[in-house]
Amino acid sequence: MDQIRLYDSHCHLSPDVTINEYDELKKSLGNQEWPINLMMTNHIDRELIFKLMDEETIRNNKNVLLNVGIHPWFTHLYTNEKRNINEPEIEFKKRHYFSILEKHSKNASDEIDKLIEQLPIPENLDDIIEIMEDKLKSNNNVNIGEIGIDKVARIPNSGYLGNSSSISGLSNYRIKMSHQLKIFKRQLNLIISVNRKKLSTSMHCVGAQGTMYECLKKFDGLIKEKQPDKVVNMAMHSYSGSIDNAKMLMKLSNVKVWFGISEFVNLKFEKDSKRWLLLKELLHIIRDCALVETDFGVDRMKNEHKGNILQIYTKLEELEVNDLNTSLYENWCKFRQV
Ligand SMILES: [Zn+2]
Repeated sequence: MDQIRLYDSHCHLSPDVTINEYDELKKSLGNQEWPINLMMTNHIDRELIFKLMDEETIRNNKNVLLNVGIHPWFTHLYTNEKRNINEPEIEFKKRHYFSILEKHSKNASDEIDKLIEQLPIPENLDDIIEIMEDKLKSNNNVNIGEIGIDKVARIPNSGYLGNSSSISGLSNYRIKMSHQLKIFKRQLNLIISVNRKKLSTSMHCVGAQGTMYECLKKFDGLIKEKQPDKVVNMAMHSYSGSIDNAKMLMKLSNVKVWFGISEFVNLKFEKDSKRWLLLKELLHIIRDCALVETDFGVDRMKNEHKGNILQIYTKLEELEVNDLNTSLYENWCKFRQV
């Protein structure tokens, strides 16, 4: 166990993080002793992430990798549409949400007006993309994540995860896949427009492995055509797809796919259960492109962060995949191109 080199290829700030925690966060990240890849998720944590990007102590600490991105669960809060002349703000807001939300269950009662009340006026997508592009161009240590698509996620009654509203539970609405894809592809294209030699991406994909594969296959072709010398590292975080899907993703040429393994999604199955055996089989195949991740908030884990990573290694050891634990750190170095 003592030869383990720690890293966390995918972590967050927790959904209820506030600016009040900024100073403590800045201090702990400035002192971070092993590599972490910290995602941006939404309009709440981006204020902190953007601020952290400008801090000298963080910029000088190569162990802290920061990302820009809109997580698929928050894509409903953005639009390409403009307000029509004389269109009241409230009508613009309704027009937007009516066009991009869809019912989860057709039979459940329709309470879209109540949900829209909780939701903010959508933000302009171009504006945030422009800021993200600027951050990526001005700091080589900034990457893209968490972006992606999610076919299963329902919008909470509060409008979005982390909203301080007291309303709980899930609504009967999802974000249409067409809207999620629009925002996802726009962020993928940043890889081409930024055109940096070293750039990685962290991806979320739930219940939409086929759509994701089609998307990445096209994107792979696009990079091959426009920037043929470039290989883009993309981590499918907490990979939940099939073995066959993993094999297909591994065959792409200018997109190099990595597979994140978290305790929460991938390692919760009982020893020798069907899912456990499937994971063992998958790990044999992806051994040289698997990464360790917590997917948790660093502001909540604090001193438990290290223990959480070690716990993943312990569980992976039980799977008895040859040389897996040695590969995991080498994989990280290759993913980070260091
Ligand atoms: Zn995540």
